[in-house]
Amino acid sequence: PDPVVAIVGRPNVGKSTLVNRILGRREAVVEDNPGVTRDRVSYKAEWNGRPFTVVDTGGWESSAKGMAQRVAGQAEIAAELADAVVLVVDALVGITASDEGIVRMLRRTKKPVILAANKVDDERGELDAAALWSLGLGEPHPVSGMHGRGVADLLDITLETL
Ligand code: GDP
Ligand code: MG
Repeated sequence: PDPVVAIVGRPNVGKSTLVNRILGRREAVVEDNPGVTRDRVSYKAEWNGRPFTVVDTGGWESSAKGMAQRVAGQAEIAAELADAVVLVVDALVGITASDEGIVRMLRRTKKPVILAANKVDDERGELDAAALWSLGLGEPHPVSGMHGRGVADLLDITLETL
């Protein structure tokens, strides 16, 4: 079977937008309201001729109690089923408690984690991306799922871990 890459992160960081960019088509549901993606959706993808499965995650309601925990729970299932995990953080917002909760969970899974600093639409955002070093996951990779900036490098690095 193809290797599986799970895209995880708290609501509204741009996971589905990034998945669409990876797929090169508009398929994963993008919403301004967090929580629209159903639990986990898998798509067949390919990079440099290499097939893999990309899993978009979501499905939690923003109004639910203990959202940080619910987010981490959803991400955990996806991470456990994956060969590698791309953690998406909104570089413009910076690190939140939800992000930190997901990081703690990901450490427990012992899966390789690639940190994507999303919404870096231009070079002005590079500094925001660098602030994500403090998550302790190594180098934050600045990307813009919306514009495609940095996504090729992110895919190169992600596929290298498989
Ligand atoms: P998800 O909940 O993590 O799947 O996030 P979505 O992909 O649904 O995106 C949430 C919001 O962030 C939408 O309004 C997107 O248009 C916006 N967004 C996603 N990626 C980017 C990006 O790279 N740059 C900017 N500026 N906005 C983005
Ligand atoms: Mg989504």
